[in-house]
Amino acid sequence: MKLKITLLALFVVLSFVLCTALGIPKLIISEVPEFSRLSKDPRLEKPSGLTKFKFAIFKTGEKKASSAFIFEGGPLLHRKPIYHSVVFVEHPKGTFLFDSGLGTQIQDQFKDHRFYVKPMVAFENPNPLVSQLKEVGIDPKKIGDIILSHLHWDHAGGVEDFPSAKVWSTEPGRKHLQEFGVEKGYLPKQLDSENILWKDLNFSSKPYENYSRSLDWFGDGSVVLVPMEGHTAGDVGMFLNLPSGKRYFFTGDITWAREGFEIPSHRTRLLRSLVDRDKELVGREIFRVHSLLKVYPNLEVVPAHDGEVIDRIGLYPHWTE
Ligand SMILES: [Zn+2]
Repeated sequence: MKLKITLLALFVVLSFVLCTALGIPKLIISEVPEFSRLSKDPRLEKPSGLTKFKFAIFKTGEKKASSAFIFEGGPLLHRKPIYHSVVFVEHPKGTFLFDSGLGTQIQDQFKDHRFYVKPMVAFENPNPLVSQLKEVGIDPKKIGDIILSHLHWDHAGGVEDFPSAKVWSTEPGRKHLQEFGVEKGYLPKQLDSENILWKDLNFSSKPYENYSRSLDWFGDGSVVLVPMEGHTAGDVGMFLNLPSGKRYFFTGDITWAREGFEIPSHRTRLLRSLVDRDKELVGREIFRVHSLLKVYPNLEVVPAHDGEVIDRIGLYPHWTE
């Protein structure tokens, strides 16, 4: 027990040193990809013709951490709010979630994390989405689909709270979970029910912006999914295009902070060794969004955990439409 505590203390100190002293931003990519050529959706030229719909963001848990710990180049003394978010989309053709946050069984599930991972991923104020919905009189059965940006514990935790919803992910994503389990940020217990209605996201070969494949969820240009790579396997991003002309891009965990796309920079060395599958692929995805932001400076890029961006948009009961 004493040895365990000493090892844990040593690990925390080493993590701190690695995350701050070595946290010089440098994007890991072997060559700079050509991401400036865009395939623009002509329907976005006259956004007022897009379907009217709305979305809200819920917070299912939170913590604060030094920015130096979150992204390379982050200021040590800045405490960044980290949210475990869920995007709730209400569209005339269906209501769905993007990610599911922490669920009702999170305290029990959390025990399965490796002991050295627990201090880094500890959270406060868990508030599962299903409980929040019931509290405000929204019927959870209304949710027909859950689209997962990836299957990590803090994104998939609420899946089993919505047994009637279809759960959309990619086949490579599910294989990665089966192969690595708790070693790579998953809690397999969250997704072991035989009753989960798994569905495969199949991207079409139609390019969208600077992505070579895409999936127009309702076929009306309002919700467009794109494949991202490297954080896990088969990561998914989601564009929401509103008739107001405002556009949002939910990027899962490619970075945990918008600054990661702006600088551009990775998660800190220690964290990416723990949670990223392939740093080179993540580097390409970061650079892709970085390139997109140069063309669309008003695009609201929303990393799933960036509490500052989410606060700027507004948490439920605020609806964006
Ligand atoms: Zn993740």
